[in-house]
Amino acid sequence: MKKILLAAAFAVSACPALPAFAQVGFPPPPPKVSPAAGVIDMHVHPDPDVFGRALTDVEMATVARRKGLRGLVLKNHVGTTADRAALAMQAVPGIEIWGGIVLNHAVGGINPSAVEWMHRMSGSRGKVVWLPTFDSDKHVKTLVNKDGSGIRVAVDGKVTPQMEEVLKIIARENLLLATGHVHAEEVIAVTRRAKELGVKNIIVTHGLTNIPGLTMAQAKEVVQMGAVIEVCYLQFLTGPDAQYAWMKHWTQVGAMTVAAAVKELGADGIVLSTDLGQQGMMTNADGLENMIGAMKAAGVSDGDIDKMMRKNPARLLGL
Ligand SMILES: [Zn+2]
Repeated sequence: MKKILLAAAFAVSACPALPAFAQVGFPPPPPKVSPAAGVIDMHVHPDPDVFGRALTDVEMATVARRKGLRGLVLKNHVGTTADRAALAMQAVPGIEIWGGIVLNHAVGGINPSAVEWMHRMSGSRGKVVWLPTFDSDKHVKTLVNKDGSGIRVAVDGKVTPQMEEVLKIIARENLLLATGHVHAEEVIAVTRRAKELGVKNIIVTHGLTNIPGLTMAQAKEVVQMGAVIEVCYLQFLTGPDAQYAWMKHWTQVGAMTVAAAVKELGADGIVLSTDLGQQGMMTNADGLENMIGAMKAAGVSDGDIDKMMRKNPARLLGL
C-alpha cells in the first residue's frame, strides 16, 4: 500500500506542469475582443444601392454591433442616407448610425434645398454633406474622360454661389462637410471659405489618394485651416495590382504613408475609415481590424490609432 502511494506521488510530481490553458492551441490566440471595439467608421457603403454591395444597412449594423463598434456613417452616391440611418438604428439598437447626402447630379448637384431637407429628416440622423463624387469635375477628368467636365465647387480659388449657400446651411446646422471627389485646389478653396462662414467640422474625403490627390503640403495647409484628412482602408488595397478592375485606377495609400502622415500632420488631423461595403470585399468591421493591425505593424502608437478611429470621428460628429 505504502509503495503504491509513493508511486502515485512520484507519478504526479514527475508530470510536467500543465500548460496554462490560454497557451494551448495557437500561441498567442486571436484576441477575444475585437480591436475595432469603440470605433466609429465614418465611411461605409451598404445596400440598397445602384452598385453591388455586400450587406444591407441592417446586416452591416448587426455585424458592427457584434464587434463592439460605436457607430457607422452610411454613404450613398445618389440618395440621402439620413432616413436609412434612422431606420437601421431602430432595427439594430445599441449602435449609433448617421447618414447624409452626396451632392451628385442625382440630387441636383450643389443643391441647397437637398441639403436643407436632408438634415430635417425625422430621426435627426442626417449629419454629413459630401461634395460631388463621381459627378465631380476631378473624378470625370481622372477616371472617365480627361477632356470631359463635371461639377465644379470653386473656380480660381473662389467657391461658386451655390456652394456658398450650401456652406451657410452646413454652418447654421452644424453639419459635417466632407469634400468628396473634387479637385485638390477646390478642397483648399472650400475649406477656407467654409471656415470663414463658421463651418466647424470638415473632413477631406480620402485626401491622399489620386482623387482628390492632395500633396502632403496641401494636406498640411488644410489641416492648419482646421480640416481633417480621411484615409480609408480601401485605399490600402487599391492600385494597378488590385484584384478587381474597379480598384485598379485608385492609387494606393498604405500604412507607411499613414505613419508618415501622422508625423507630418499630427494624429488630430487624420481620421481613419474604411469606405468598404462593396460586393466581394470583407465587411467594414474586418477592414477596421485589418487596418489597426497594419497601422500597429507600421509603428503607429495605440494612442494615435485611438485618436484617428475613435476620438476624432466622435469630435467631427459633435459627440
Ligand atoms: Zn465612399
